[in-house]
Amino acid sequence: MRRARASISEKENLETERGQSAVPIAPKTAGAEKGKRTISLRWGGGRELALGEGRVAVFAGPCAVESRSQLLETAFAVKEAGAVGLRGGAFKPRTSPYSFQGLGEKGLELLAEAREATGLLVITEATSVEELPLVARYADVIQIGSRNMQNFPLLKAAGRFGRPVVLKRGLAATIEEWLLAAEYILASGHDRIILCERGIRTYEPMTRNTMDLGAVALLPQLASFPVMADPSHAAGRSDLVSALAKAAVAAGADSLLIEVHPRPQEALSDGAQSLNFKEFSLLMEDLRILAAAVGKQLVGLESCPKGVCRDAAG
Ligand code: PEP
Ligand code: MN
Repeated sequence: MRRARASISEKENLETERGQSAVPIAPKTAGAEKGKRTISLRWGGGRELALGEGRVAVFAGPCAVESRSQLLETAFAVKEAGAVGLRGGAFKPRTSPYSFQGLGEKGLELLAEAREATGLLVITEATSVEELPLVARYADVIQIGSRNMQNFPLLKAAGRFGRPVVLKRGLAATIEEWLLAAEYILASGHDRIILCERGIRTYEPMTRNTMDLGAVALLPQLASFPVMADPSHAAGRSDLVSALAKAAVAAGADSLLIEVHPRPQEALSDGAQSLNFKEFSLLMEDLRILAAAVGKQLVGLESCPKGVCRDAAG
């Protein structure tokens, strides 16, 4: 069984309760040695990708599924540019109750239609325990959002559907709190977890959040899960997304989650941080070169035909 972090003893657990530092940051922990930081993603009637060592995979799409045409247009564009997965929220955890909350099940149906049409893997968020069975029926990968990182009932239930789970870092969570949250998912017997750094809240107001590249670099030493980075929510502005995406890959991220919209200025959510198709495809060209420079391969859908994962990393 994987561990989210170095083991802690009962005594150390008690120390945590008293607010003292509890995690012995070991240089390497059980299960974190080379080759183990890989999980298998399966979708589309037999496609498979081993996410982790040696590869960089990109999941892109709108913040929220807004309409059939918006989603399908985006799905074809991100596939063409080299993404392996389509992101898109059907249930949106918005800070304001007056903001667009997502299309719900209709949005999930559109994601399934886009998967069918393009072959892309689908990643989408479940915001509550009640939504999980429905979301798991349509999603290939279940996302748990920042606002839910410490929703313990949701963490415990998320692993029960046999789908890989992306666990986004909480808005102001420490790495230790994040890894402990991952252990809640592990405790339900599920170990196909991806940790997503999406920026944390700091005192800096000029960017939406602060991308913690130190965490991206450190996680492989602490945990046996692939690392994802979300430069869109970290930056909050599209002009910085490309730089942060590349920085995250240089720091060791195994995958990226990027918001892309056909017309960002018309987006119902997170338009300011969404790339248009041209910007996304330029970024993908840069990422191909950058991945190679750090000894990895950017894997597109063509690397994952049904049944095999065919690329340099095997
Ligand atoms: C999202 O991915 O659209 C999202 C809501 O992200 P986060 O939970 O990181 O804010
Ligand atoms: Mn968003």
